[in-house]
Amino acid sequence: MSTVEGIGAAPGRALGRVHRLEAEAAPVPHRTIAPEEVEAEVRRFEQARAAARERLEALKTETGDRFGPYDAGMFEAQMLMVDDPMIEEGTLAYIRENYLAAERAFDLQMLEHRVRLLDSGKTMEIDRLSDLHDVRHRVLSTLLDLPEPEIPEGDEPLILVARDLPPSLAARLDAARVVGFVTERGSRAGHSVLIAKSLGIPAVVGVTAALEALPHGCRALIDGRTGRIVCDPDEPEIEAFRRGVVRLEARRERLVEASPERPTRTADEVEVTIQANVDRPDEVARARTLGAAGVGLFRSEFLVIGHREIPSEAEQYEAYRMAVEAFPDREVVLRTFDLGGDKFPMFLEMPREENPYLGWRAIRVCLDLPDLFLNQLRAAVRASAHGDLKILIPFVTSVDEIERTRALIGRVYDELGEAAPAGRVPLGIMVETPAAVELLDRIAPHVDFVSLGTNDLTQYVLAVDRGNAKLAAVFEPLHPALLAQYRRIVRACRTHDLPVGVCGELAGDPVGLAVLIGLGFRRFSISLSTLTEQREVARGVVAAELRKLVDGADWEDGAACRAEVAAYLEDRGVFEGDAARLSGE
Ligand code: PEP
Ligand code: MG
Repeated sequence: MSTVEGIGAAPGRALGRVHRLEAEAAPVPHRTIAPEEVEAEVRRFEQARAAARERLEALKTETGDRFGPYDAGMFEAQMLMVDDPMIEEGTLAYIRENYLAAERAFDLQMLEHRVRLLDSGKTMEIDRLSDLHDVRHRVLSTLLDLPEPEIPEGDEPLILVARDLPPSLAARLDAARVVGFVTERGSRAGHSVLIAKSLGIPAVVGVTAALEALPHGCRALIDGRTGRIVCDPDEPEIEAFRRGVVRLEARRERLVEASPERPTRTADEVEVTIQANVDRPDEVARARTLGAAGVGLFRSEFLVIGHREIPSEAEQYEAYRMAVEAFPDREVVLRTFDLGGDKFPMFLEMPREENPYLGWRAIRVCLDLPDLFLNQLRAAVRASAHGDLKILIPFVTSVDEIERTRALIGRVYDELGEAAPAGRVPLGIMVETPAAVELLDRIAPHVDFVSLGTNDLTQYVLAVDRGNAKLAAVFEPLHPALLAQYRRIVRACRTHDLPVGVCGELAGDPVGLAVLIGLGFRRFSISLSTLTEQREVARGVVAAELRKLVDGADWEDGAACRAEVAAYLEDRGVFEGDAARLSGE
């Protein structure tokens, strides 16, 4: 038994047999042609390109039918690459001037393009690498008559392990057969990860040397939340996993039977609001079915990632309206584009940055690009006429950013004139930078609500890159320095009577939720994969006991906090240690 760490990208746990995908095409032989063969070779290349384009169109349609237009849009990135004039001209030059066979000429061009992407150093461009491998394989497979990568027939659950999972394969995955995937490359916002999330398949990315560490045919347990992978787990570990699955399923059944609409109250009758985090418009309906009390975080940037054009106001309006209409009696908190960091759309010329998480990100991008921002704000304001929509701005570090956003919202109302909905759309901020925590007293009069983003706050308080798998163990949202920040937030919000929720991943972790309840938070927004279980956790705890536990504690580190709170949950019977071992909790 051994363990490997990566970045948890799509939550959930899975046990399966490792199936390694050697998706990299076999080396392309160096072949030259005679001058009189040049035009035939050019035609062969153009035919292969046309075939690739046709296949991508078909995949786009299939994906659209299966997952909806947002996922189908991801193939646009690949079509763009197939039609890239630089790659076409370069390939033709190699054929005409260097007398290279079409496959060799194209392969060299792709190699050069890859170097250009890597040299750019931008996350967006690096995310494009999986598209590049996909396109390379697709064109070469016609030229060299190679098969498409396939998942073998059979019933045994598989964990796919690859350097990179091509989006075209991800879009064809059968969740009954492939129960998880692990890749060496990729990021939380990669196309394959987005698909995995919609299929409910756990995924771990950024695993250094995954292909070496996880041999073909071995059994593996993966945790898509913590990024932990156990290779060849021993019997107790497997047993614990199985018991966890049985228990989770039993809980789910109980909850479904017990009407999802039932409010969430702790054992001492303290009301807790559990809302959903949604990354894509089509998750809204599922959030409703699971009994979420609204959407506490709608990550709108996933509407634009992988798309070659800025989504129109009409397109955005439809998506936002659909969300509020799904929750006629509940709030939907729409977060404005959180671009930058590890989320880049194709239509924005992002500067090359050494530290994208400390760079041109989120509200900074939106305020610098008022057309992009106004488009979104207009769509949001119009959609607010159909329900309880609120606007949330990410990555705020100053009052000025809030005031400038308010001014733009004011402009939207002025421009809409009589068509504007009555009443102003509430505006809130993500508290996810140390500056926002520090300035909360000053910020409070300018906002209607705030939402605690524990993912970024952890990154910025502990100075640890949230996307760096090597630092996964240091990324601890229950570090004492963070607990101090959470306490300050609760205090400031009480003083100013400012509604506060938590939408970071900590609320999706049983121990994290218990600590947050103990600190005094009452509103949480949680990703769909753990929402149901977390409602159960909230119902099983006694808020007053947790307050005492958290108030009286002076934990030296996150591990001490986790151990004590996990023991409390175990005592209450809401959380058994073995179920959590895989998560390292
Ligand atoms: C956070 O930072 O905690 C958060 C909820 O936002 P995101 O994970 O999208 O940055
Ligand atoms: Mg954030």
